[in-house]
Amino acid sequence: MNYEKIILKSGRERSLINRHPWVFSGGVKQMPKAPNGSIVEVRTNTDELLGYGFFAPNSQIMCRLFEFTNQPMVIDEQYWKNKITRAFNYRKQFINAETTNIYRLIHAEGDFFPGIIIDIYNNAAVCQILVKGVELISQYVFEALQSLGFNHIYLKTKQSTQLLEQVTDGNRWVNDAVLTMPIVGKEYGVKFNIDVETGQKTGFFIDQRENRRTLGELSKGKTVLNTFSYSGGFSLFALQNGATWVDSVDSSKEAIELANQNVALNGYSNHEGIAADCFDYLKQCEKQYDIIVLDPPAFAKHSRAVANATRGYQSLNKLGIEKVKPNGLIFTFSCSQHIDKDLFRKIVFSAAAETKRNVRIVRQLSQPDDHPINIYHPEGEYLKGLLLHVE
Ligand code: SAH
Repeated sequence: MNYEKIILKSGRERSLINRHPWVFSGGVKQMPKAPNGSIVEVRTNTDELLGYGFFAPNSQIMCRLFEFTNQPMVIDEQYWKNKITRAFNYRKQFINAETTNIYRLIHAEGDFFPGIIIDIYNNAAVCQILVKGVELISQYVFEALQSLGFNHIYLKTKQSTQLLEQVTDGNRWVNDAVLTMPIVGKEYGVKFNIDVETGQKTGFFIDQRENRRTLGELSKGKTVLNTFSYSGGFSLFALQNGATWVDSVDSSKEAIELANQNVALNGYSNHEGIAADCFDYLKQCEKQYDIIVLDPPAFAKHSRAVANATRGYQSLNKLGIEKVKPNGLIFTFSCSQHIDKDLFRKIVFSAAAETKRNVRIVRQLSQPDDHPINIYHPEGEYLKGLLLHVE
């Protein structure tokens, strides 16, 4: 099989030799004569093969490598099947199928498979394709998923991906194997209704699983405020572990409706879902809580937004730290890729300093095993959090 080649400028091979999977347009000396989405060879200025990737001529990231090798290879159906099977076997070590059937199967670069995210909800797989190259091999991905027992596959494509990457397929059930919504999934034994068709992300914020469990372990006998609650993930873990009362706040009425449904599904009633802006709620509320969760959406979606986002995180954390009861706990998070761990800690430090309360870092929190960080691709580390104790 002959693949077209991308030839890099001299010196621009260094990051690829270190297995960073992205080729930026500025590093390309010679473009392949190939359409968007083609599988291409990536070669140095002296024509040495570095690996194979998906070509995206209109993107700043002109190629994303899924294989590093100096030996010519054939990338066929079996290749993709092996990649997905390896990811599945990796998850089996960490995910206990008896209690948990909601997890991420493919975390793009974290699974050496850039351009796709695959989330599992019970027997359904939701694929979010991010580049044209994956769309062109998607049939192999679907077959691999089916051979692992995932017979219901939903393809979810963001509008921005459709525009920027010309991914045209999406928002449909593959082979018309439709599932009626919601799907009931479980996470450490807690049940959740998941609507993959209309829900946010692929239907659930899977990446907070371990942090929700940590909250649960500390919730017995406590009152909990879960801000930016979405479908009530943190709330349910608090209830499951003996919290006396939980309030969930989200600006989306649909999210609060989902949270209320999930509370009922698990048989609890010591909960209120409140549709409100979390900043306003925190400013106005007179109630005091033992534990407050602050899990906002990414305030910095791109690097230009970092300054504004910093202000947002700071005022949110200040409000949370001010409001929590003495001897209280705060779970605070940022999922902005452009705000790293150190910056987030500085932001929370300045917020704490403004409140003039004694604040300690109890634990540093991050993303779970099924969202692994490719060591050569530090950009994959996006979720960071702190568990704070406020005296
Ligand atoms: N903690 C959740 C995920 C939170 S996602 C979980 O474990 O599942 C972020 C949520 O914040 C979304 O549901 C979104 O509707 C909500 N949101 C965004 N801006 C908001 C605001 N200003 N006030 C309240 N909720 C907001």
